[in-house]
Formats: sequence, structure tokens, C-alpha cells
Amino acid sequence: MKPLQSAPKPELAGRRTADRARREPFLDPYQARRKLKGSTVCPKCGAVYHHGRWQWGQRPDDARAEPCPACRRIADALPAGTVTLHGAFAQQHKEEIIGLARNEEAAEKVEHPLNRIMGIADTPEGLVIDTTDIHLPRRLGEAVKRAFHGNLAMHFDDAGYFVRVDWRAPGWAAPRIRDRAGRAPVRSARRLRQRGCGSPHRQAWSRRRDLRSG
Ligand SMILES: [Zn+2]
Repeated sequence: MKPLQSAPKPELAGRRTADRARREPFLDPYQARRKLKGSTVCPKCGAVYHHGRWQWGQRPDDARAEPCPACRRIADALPAGTVTLHGAFAQQHKEEIIGLARNEEAAEKVEHPLNRIMGIADTPEGLVIDTTDIHLPRRLGEAVKRAFHGNLAMHFDDAGYFVRVDWRAPGWAAPRIRDRAGRAPVRSARRLRQRGCGSPHRQAWSRRRDLRSG
């Protein structure tokens, strides 16, 4: 028997794009404006720019005051990333999810002062968490997935220096989705092969893609 073709894993795609972004840090318009000379302290959050990067620590005596990129993004209300937690499950577990997100943010911020949650909002799309950086969304999405399982999809927008992470509760969507011929999804691999449309995983993945693009 021919092995079933495996579908692309959204987590892996997200990892690759995040790695690329890490290698090219100056894609970020908020970082790219210019390299700061000397020491600088952010008057808003107290982060210190020292030896070429923003960090927490003692304010050097000669430090100038200038807002850090994270505080500038917050002031401009322009997130670098967003995590959307879709569906009723996210609503029902809102407090737990927000607590989880805040814990992840606190752990991240120790080493990376510019990686922060900007805001959490209830929207028609779901619970939306905005961040000041492109790395925290993946961390938040993976923490929610570890705690509640479900599906994670990540998309890195090269042109806009922006990461979008979408999380959906376990069992999301499959029962409601129909293919172009109006047929319900098939969960058995054998019946799927009879239909000739790949593995159940691929079928679900391509439908999700159809939904997103449509
Ligand atoms: Zn700041």
C-alpha cells in the first residue's frame, strides 16, 4: 500500500518563519529606524538600551531618555503580532487562558523586555491578544495548545512584519464543513481513499485553507 501523503504542519511553518524573522531583526520598522548611540532609558517602562540591545537593569548615569520600541508600538496601537482564540470554548475558559497568557508573557519578558502583551480584547472573531513583538504570539499559542489541545495555525507576513496566530478548540469545524460537492468530511482513512482525496489530516487542512481564503 502506498503511504498516505502527510499534510504540512502549521506549527512547523510558523517555526520556520519565526526563525527567519529572528535572523533578520532589522525587518522590524520599530527597530530599524536607527541604531541608538550610547545608553538610553525608556521613560515609560524603564528598559535600558545598553551594548546594542534593550534589557532590564541599572540605568547608566549618562543615559538619555527615549521610548523603547515596545512602548512606541503601544503608543501607536500598532501590534507586531496577534493571537486569536476562536470559539465558545475560548470564551468559557477566558480567565484561565488570560492567566496562562500573562504567565507566559512574564516569563518571556525577563529575557526579552520588548516582548509584551499590548492588549486583550473580546471581538466577534474571538478573544484577541495583541503583542509588541513577533515571537510572543507563537509562545502564547503553544501554551494554550499544551493546556487545551486544539489546532494552531500561524502566519508570518513578510511585508508587514506581522505574525498572526489562530487557535481553535479541539474538534473545531470538521463537523460543520462541507466540501465543494456538499459532502461531510470523512474520518475513516479507508473511505477517504475510496473518495481519492488524501489523508484525513490533509482533507481537514485543505478545507481550513479553503475557509480562510474564501
Ligand atoms: Zn519602554
